[in-house]
Amino acid sequence: APAAEAAYLAGLNPEQREAVETLDGPLLVLAGAGTGKTRVLTARVAHILATGRAFPSQILVVTFTNKAAREMKERIHAMVGDQVEGMPWLGTFHSIGVRILRRHHELVGLKSGFTILDTDDQIRLLKQLLAAENIDEKRWPARLLASTIDGWKNRGLSPKDVPPGEGAVFANGKGGMLYAAYQARLKALNAVDFGDLLLEGIRLFRENPDVLAEYHRRFKYLLVDEYQDTNVAQYLWLRLLAQGSKNVCCVGDDDQSIYGWRGAEVDNILRFESDFPGAKVIRLERNYRSTGHILASASHLIAHNEGRLGKTLFSEGEEGERVTVTGAWDSGEEARAVGEEIEALQRAGHRLSEIAILVRASFQMREFEDRFVTLGLNYRVIGGPRFYERAEIRDALAYLRCVNSAADDLAFERIVNVPKRGIGDATVKQIHDVARAAGVPLQEAARALAQSEELKPKVRATMRGLIEAFDRWREQARTLSHTELAEIVLDESGYTEMWQKDRSAEAAGRLENLKELVRSMEPFENLAGFLEHIALVMDTDNGAGEDAVQVMTLHSAKGLEFDTVFLPGWEEGLFPHQRALDEQGKAGLEEERRLAYVGITRARASARIWFASNRRIHGLWNSTVPSRFLDELPDAHVRVEESRGGMGWGGSSYGGGSYGQSRFDRAEPFAASSYSTPGWQRAQNNRGRSDGGGPSRSGFSERSGGRYDAGAAGRRG
Ligand code: ATP
Ligand code: MG
Repeated sequence: APAAEAAYLAGLNPEQREAVETLDGPLLVLAGAGTGKTRVLTARVAHILATGRAFPSQILVVTFTNKAAREMKERIHAMVGDQVEGMPWLGTFHSIGVRILRRHHELVGLKSGFTILDTDDQIRLLKQLLAAENIDEKRWPARLLASTIDGWKNRGLSPKDVPPGEGAVFANGKGGMLYAAYQARLKALNAVDFGDLLLEGIRLFRENPDVLAEYHRRFKYLLVDEYQDTNVAQYLWLRLLAQGSKNVCCVGDDDQSIYGWRGAEVDNILRFESDFPGAKVIRLERNYRSTGHILASASHLIAHNEGRLGKTLFSEGEEGERVTVTGAWDSGEEARAVGEEIEALQRAGHRLSEIAILVRASFQMREFEDRFVTLGLNYRVIGGPRFYERAEIRDALAYLRCVNSAADDLAFERIVNVPKRGIGDATVKQIHDVARAAGVPLQEAARALAQSEELKPKVRATMRGLIEAFDRWREQARTLSHTELAEIVLDESGYTEMWQKDRSAEAAGRLENLKELVRSMEPFENLAGFLEHIALVMDTDNGAGEDAVQVMTLHSAKGLEFDTVFLPGWEEGLFPHQRALDEQGKAGLEEERRLAYVGITRARASARIWFASNRRIHGLWNSTVPSRFLDELPDAHVRVEESRGGMGWGGSSYGGGSYGQSRFDRAEPFAASSYSTPGWQRAQNNRGRSDGGGPSRSGFSERSGGRYDAGAAGRRG
């Protein structure tokens, strides 16, 4: 074969090579983390191109993120050169979906140049519909409707397909009708939302066999990465396209299915063989990424899941260093210690971009980000905004800035109508006009307007209320601590309540972030000092293009790999996350465990797990319970490190082991059969804290059953 000598084939093991060279017919590569699934997919594209089996434009490749698509393009380029430039069909389901819709817009009732709504637009539209139907948005929030509709779309259901019983759930039987009305509005606006990119594609193919036939002729080869996380709509879309050539290759790992909460269905893997009769299944068992101890730890952990297809994994690499587990006194100590370790790694010649911090919940990033700014360590947040740049944090900061300075116009403008209080664009313009004419800040202009006859009585009253609130808060600022003040401001402004009422999937996370914001103010003397710090943090650039520590959620880390991976916050309620347990029970726990598996298997050489014995929740010290996942790690592959902190210890040197704290001997603490009575934890708590701010023994685990965020968890669902 001409390709026998090709560089992209060199070094592949026999199973990988078979997966690359089996070009005809359906193929499923089912294999664990780091076995080369993505590499096989890339080599397969190179092989198809190099052997001239298809033109670049005849290959469809689906990746999970745009970033993954870019990286795959680069790798293919390295293998076959410029041919990759001619591959328009390499991207995410959404990016390919929109490309197809643009070519045939008229067939699904869209005009050219249709717009794609983002979540905010979508919510605004739904609010209008609810208002038009006289549905009380307080009882039936637009965001809940949005996530209900998204759920239907993920399952490939258009309005007429929604089972009547399900459609009846929202707004006393009006859910299905609202979905239909929403779709009609979208059409009238010449717009689609994200879910439509696939749903409308499916409709296009079903209603226009000639169009589908055109794509059948076009796509000679179809390839899909991260197949375990496809939802039903994506699956149906793909199946329609693949029925042409049937040369479809999907690669995935059931143990890494972590998007069940967003509608992904692992069953798509099982369905593959029945939908594509004669499909070949190849299993890859050799892991090339991680050292022996890391792989053994991850495999042992995931073996606790029952719902698995099951597979073997081995590594021929070195045993390497053991996975470490370290307890910190509290989350601040955790961030400090990780920061020190990273500095030590940097001194030893490690590149920062080869170091990742993978958190379970985005609020955890805050302490690390603050720490890195203090240390002057470059960091980059992947897959989302940095903590202080999140919308809810910016809103909250805007309120605080307005309290701090009545002249902060940008801040005032941001929150004058957030939450919505009936101060619309026209009123805002009036405020601006007055401000400009009188040469005063917006707040002063608003004060003047609130007393004049120019505004409608209702708006005037609202405005007066807002101005009076700011006056009151400024007055309280003299006597209250700045953290107390922040809580009052967020409460009385209705801002917290806005998110409490919001039943969308992200709302609970936003509330967590708001609490974390208040917590982050504690070290500062006063509000002004805190806001100055924020201004500095915001000013440091993203470290784009520079060597930087990679900070992200576990969900965003899928498919990636790093030399060193820090996994902080392994505590019950945080990881596994209480919401997952409350809402999905055992299935939720198993998905959390898969997330832990994804986390550990990102590491090539070093995986470092941390937990904090105390976290401050709602401003109170609470002792935590270490994650049950720690108990599920195999003793032989894990090293429990000296714990950090305690005794008012500032934490300047590490590793001395001279302060005589309890050693985290696995044989004793973690082997305890129940995590609710960890004796070693008691020992740790008894160490106390000289500054008097230490946690009380009757902490949070006893009060609320270990629930991490009882409020948010209770509100959802
Ligand atoms: P994940 O499940 O995490 O997505 P994966 O199965 O897609 O992992 P890859 O990312 O493709 O695995 O490969 C993991 C690492 O192993 C990569 O660095 C890759 O280059 C390397 N690798 C894969 N196959 C081989 C091989 N035959 N020889 C040497 N290195 C390999
Ligand atoms: Mg991969």
